[in-house]
Amino acid sequence: MTETDNKIHLVSLGCARNLVDSELMLGQLVGKGHDITVDPVDADVIIVNTCSFIDSAVDESIDTILELAQNKTSGNCRRLIVTGCLPERFREKIAESMPEVDFFLGTGAYHRIVDAVEKNPGENRFPCILTSPESAPFQNSDALRVRTSPYTAYVKIAEGCNKKCTFCMIPKLRGGLRSRNDSDIVAEVLLLKESGINEITLVAQDTTCYGIDLVSTKRLDYLLESLAAVSDGIWLRMLYGHPESINDRMVKTVAEHSNICSYFDIPIQHADNSVLKRMGRRYTSDYLKRLFDKIRSSVPDASIRTTAMVGFPGETDKDFQTLLEFIEEMRFDHLGVFTYSDSDELLSHRLSDHVDHSVAEERYNRLMSCQADISLENNRKHIDRVCKVLVESGPVNGHYIGRTSFQAPEVDGITFIRSDEVEKGSFVMVKITDAFEYDLTGVPV
Ligand code: SF4
Repeated sequence: MTETDNKIHLVSLGCARNLVDSELMLGQLVGKGHDITVDPVDADVIIVNTCSFIDSAVDESIDTILELAQNKTSGNCRRLIVTGCLPERFREKIAESMPEVDFFLGTGAYHRIVDAVEKNPGENRFPCILTSPESAPFQNSDALRVRTSPYTAYVKIAEGCNKKCTFCMIPKLRGGLRSRNDSDIVAEVLLLKESGINEITLVAQDTTCYGIDLVSTKRLDYLLESLAAVSDGIWLRMLYGHPESINDRMVKTVAEHSNICSYFDIPIQHADNSVLKRMGRRYTSDYLKRLFDKIRSSVPDASIRTTAMVGFPGETDKDFQTLLEFIEEMRFDHLGVFTYSDSDELLSHRLSDHVDHSVAEERYNRLMSCQADISLENNRKHIDRVCKVLVESGPVNGHYIGRTSFQAPEVDGITFIRSDEVEKGSFVMVKITDAFEYDLTGVPV
């Protein structure tokens, strides 16, 4: 099967960084003359770009693969390809257990997707390209990319991570930190802006570590300055910061540029010092309080998102209470909560006193309900304020859907705009008329 005009259907699972890889893989294939179809039944080739950093992600990846594999009997599918973190984590083991899959590409082999589609897998029973994660070259700024959103785009500024959090699989799946060349990132942002993108979200495993592996002293603040200079009229945003590596210069740079969203995504994971120590996180709750106080005093309209994990091995009721009280005190704008996901590949697996899943679930529910009240209280502060909103879809029942600068794509709430005449993809000034736990409503002014 070497034709070059296959209909390709791709499903992208997992995080924004995976979505960038998916969009670039589709770009390579379209560049070779293949077409894209949104209908898996109609596809000659189906690609599943997977996630595997926690158990529920592994389950979702396997379920999606098995479901789409049915198209090999009921649809036109002649080749099923699995890429990303699932084959990277389980390697030949997953290949042996999934005979319905024709090709596996690890996280170091996205640039080989055309081979996987066009080349004959030959006699190899389990055709896998599983090179080391570090071997994946960064795509050039002008690489063809099939974007999944017309108005907003993620830009990957680095790959991998040098930190050793004991609960985290990512360094194994994505390798050590490799930062992209800053001029290449600036060139990509310029191209995206010229193509009509109004919001660019910078992503990496740890964006705040950008540049520490580069010979130059160019760090995230330097990159933000360069990007802000070429991004007039659009929004720049960052996700996936780290408390240890965010510094005053970065906060100052955000404060000094109106086109950089005053949005800080800084996962704390926990707030009890003994739990943080066992997680391999080198900060304390006092350090966190000083950090968030500094951000709020330097950037008055700062919006802060964080992530917390419950059920980490050895977490006692008292440790959880410390976390709950910290969340109540800090009153974050957005909070994501995960229950600990164990694996014998993790350092944390060897720790004692693993927490029962039902206890972790109960703690998850208590933290989410605590945050729901805080989020509602924070959202109510926006009533009667006029906010700049990026209109993304609609109208549906007389409402368009958009996001403010303090609402990140896919992870935060949205803003409903009561109107039947705003332009999608544009920025509109909206007077907020009502607030809910996660969403806002308003009218254009
Ligand atoms: S910093 Fe983030 S990506 Fe890196 S090891 Fe820790 S949790 Fe994982």
